[in-house]
Amino acid sequence: MDYLPVFLKLEGRAVIVVGGGEVALRKAQWLLKAGARVTVIAPALHADLARYAVNAELSHTPSTFRAELLEGAAAVVAATHERTVNAAVSAAAQQRAIPVNVVDDAALSTFIFPAIIDRSPLIVAVSSAGHAPVLARGVREQIEALLPQRLGALARFMGRHRKGVQQALAAPGRRAFWERIVRGPVGSQVLRGDEDAAASGLRRELLASRLTTPRSAATPALGEVYLIGAGPGDPDLLTLRALQLLQQADVILYDRLVSEAVLERARRDAQRIFVGKESGERGQQERIHALLIELTSRGQRVARLKGGDPFVFGRGGEEIEVLRSRGIPFTVVPGITAALGAAASSAVPLTHRRLAQSVTFVTGHQGEAAATDWRYFADPSHTVVFYMGVAQLQGILARLAEAGAQASHPVAIIERATLPEQRVLRGTLVDIAAIAQRSQVGPPALLVVGAVAAFAGADDLGALAAPPAVGALA
Ligand code: SAH
Repeated sequence: MDYLPVFLKLEGRAVIVVGGGEVALRKAQWLLKAGARVTVIAPALHADLARYAVNAELSHTPSTFRAELLEGAAAVVAATHERTVNAAVSAAAQQRAIPVNVVDDAALSTFIFPAIIDRSPLIVAVSSAGHAPVLARGVREQIEALLPQRLGALARFMGRHRKGVQQALAAPGRRAFWERIVRGPVGSQVLRGDEDAAASGLRRELLASRLTTPRSAATPALGEVYLIGAGPGDPDLLTLRALQLLQQADVILYDRLVSEAVLERARRDAQRIFVGKESGERGQQERIHALLIELTSRGQRVARLKGGDPFVFGRGGEEIEVLRSRGIPFTVVPGITAALGAAASSAVPLTHRRLAQSVTFVTGHQGEAAATDWRYFADPSHTVVFYMGVAQLQGILARLAEAGAQASHPVAIIERATLPEQRVLRGTLVDIAAIAQRSQVGPPALLVVGAVAAFAGADDLGALAAPPAVGALA
């Protein structure tokens, strides 16, 4: 180990920054965050540093560097562009036994700044001991993505309850108690910003811990469910929160539409249970409900992973009804719904200032939309995205024609959107069925109907421009 990572208390202590440029600014900002009394020594200041000085958040000594200026400093940072000045600062500081950092020069430094992940009071510091700062920053970015934004709030929440827990629980039970808080529903509640619920959850847990004997303290606490939208298939389209929760789930219940690539991002040792509905299979939804209840009662953290977004044709609503009625804690994580994924990956904008002013997501299954809806759908300046519509293609096209859609009405089919095998087929009301048949389109696929379905960029905007009025529909 080239350096010992330690955390320096600088609250109220004098720290000197030599140099007034952008690098000095970045270091001064970190020092101010740590509560240091910063003095910047530089003939001239970067505008932002000058603003701090005007607001008296730091002091400015408008001169060149002199060794005496270091007297009484707890630490020194040299951030000038001139190596001779930096070397003089380093020598003067070391002579006075003051820790010194020379930016980008490990040889002249007695301490170095790590790459910092700030979830205060929780701090992660990453260092390559000056060998590869770019690599250290890359590692920082990866950890940054993994750690929830509100982790600091969780640390503060635990800090606030530390004393109370210490008084209520004997030492042997405390650690298990805090682990249940961090890894269980109470932690999830804090992380999604619901501190009131978390505080009452903590009180309940505390009561339960006091009532159980140490031996039975091993009884699992109540588990929880993460209802996660897995997006349309490309794993890079998962949200950061989806990734974080997939990393901590014990069990994963996943649907057919969840791609293998997405599953690979989950915790390696999590149990995976396929709960996809094969068509015509009855009672599967009830089996899923039973599984959620069963697994959480054993204290498991269950990721219920659904294609796209859980609340867009995903039956997520029914699942949270069941969870709510049983008092099982849950967190919902939105996903990119297929229509949005497909729009992006096929470059079909769902609305467009000149082509379409509104968009509707419809399930192709239920074909029961009222006649007025179909007249609305038949207007090319309104975009309609049919989910689960390929099997019903003929019926959908017929109803659009009945409702007044023109033969030239643009239709696109996007199959396996965002996946490597994605296909985009374009046509019109009259020829898309033949095109689909010729290309043997299969699920999952979406049908996009409306002027935007023919969108191919700026060139043919004029040709596609839809009639301006929707008035005929009124
Ligand atoms: N909750 C999901 C939708 C589930 S319904 C979501 O928000 O996306 C299933 C339908 O979604 C499929 O029949 C298909 O129409 C559509 N779908 C899902 N993933 C798709 C993909 N990668 N490409 C095209 N369509 C997709």
